[in-house]
Amino acid sequence: MAAGKKKSVGKASKKKAVPKKKATTKKTSPSKKKVTASKAAVPKRKAVPKKKSVPKKKAAAKKKLAVAEGGMKRFQSVESQQRFSRQVCAEGGKIGFVPTMGAFHAGHLSLVKKARSQNDIVIVSIFVNPLQFSEGEDFERYPRDLARDLDQLRDAGVDAVFLPEPHEMYGENFTTTISVGEMATRMCGAYRPGHFDGVCTVVAKLLGIVMPQRIYLGEKDAQQLVILRRMIADLNIDVRVVAGPIVREKDGLALSSRNTYLSEAERAEAPRLYEALRLAQREILVGQARDPIALTAKMRAHIEASRHLRVRYIEMVDPESLEPREVLTGRTLIALSVDLGETHLIDNLLINVPGGRMAAGFSAPA
Ligand code: AMP
Repeated sequence: MAAGKKKSVGKASKKKAVPKKKATTKKTSPSKKKVTASKAAVPKRKAVPKKKSVPKKKAAAKKKLAVAEGGMKRFQSVESQQRFSRQVCAEGGKIGFVPTMGAFHAGHLSLVKKARSQNDIVIVSIFVNPLQFSEGEDFERYPRDLARDLDQLRDAGVDAVFLPEPHEMYGENFTTTISVGEMATRMCGAYRPGHFDGVCTVVAKLLGIVMPQRIYLGEKDAQQLVILRRMIADLNIDVRVVAGPIVREKDGLALSSRNTYLSEAERAEAPRLYEALRLAQREILVGQARDPIALTAKMRAHIEASRHLRVRYIEMVDPESLEPREVLTGRTLIALSVDLGETHLIDNLLINVPGGRMAAGFSAPA
């Protein structure tokens, strides 16, 4: 499919380029070119791009809303957050929302920055959601640093922070949860039963509380992103999902709040996750590898060459359905999870596998 598209784009652009070039030479070659160019081009250029681009720029700039005055707001109750969001809506403001569990790093802040550039009002939630942790997981010891987080959000120009306590989100009578289905049993879901149901339940609640036009999610949590997109589509929730790229350390390790758990020795070996992903990318793009089983074995060998690292899973899947690829073809998500001592880390890479003879038969459903 990818190869077909490339061909047709190439043909189309060649056909279009010929008349354009002719037209340009006619306008620019005569000695009167400055006069003719200005006479001919000015009205057109002013009329066409300005009409299209000005409203877009205005929409992207922060509207001055009365409700946002007085610095960054903090809301702990659902009611106060909803009241604020309704006021924003009444003033015609658009809300960009970044849900988080706090302990910020540059990955979180990249989402906040993106939201800041695209909305009138930016709201961030900080909530370590008990519903998405199984027994024995790190809910209690999950890193929390509220004072530092709030400083960073203030510096980033955030308008409001929603900071509920668990009992505010899940009161005594709380009973309804979201059931994701099969997608939530794959990959991380196989090791964390109920995790994605918990994630979807809290995000659905947060969307009902914050009422944003856009929600910002990181590609770092690829399975979460796919599942939340699916939930939002399935439940017809009126919000646009904006994904942000993975922010990494210089040595390739994806930033994560859980990196603080790593011992010095584990941290030194942690870049192997990304190295394995890049190895797979090279094997696919340069070495023409198309067999996920052989490629997975190579990745595993690279990771487990360190005695500190043990692979939970390496999956090569369709990035929308999360169905495993039998042959690598089309857009393919390579995702992995690795245990480093007590800590488990995830990472992924989306690769556009070029079409080939082996892959051709599989390209249609992809
Ligand atoms: P968390 O606080 O771990 O729930 O993450 C909040 C949001 O930040 C999620 O949408 C994550 O996918 C995103 N995020 C976490 N780490 C990164 C990273 N390294 N780069 C980009 N986004 C990230």
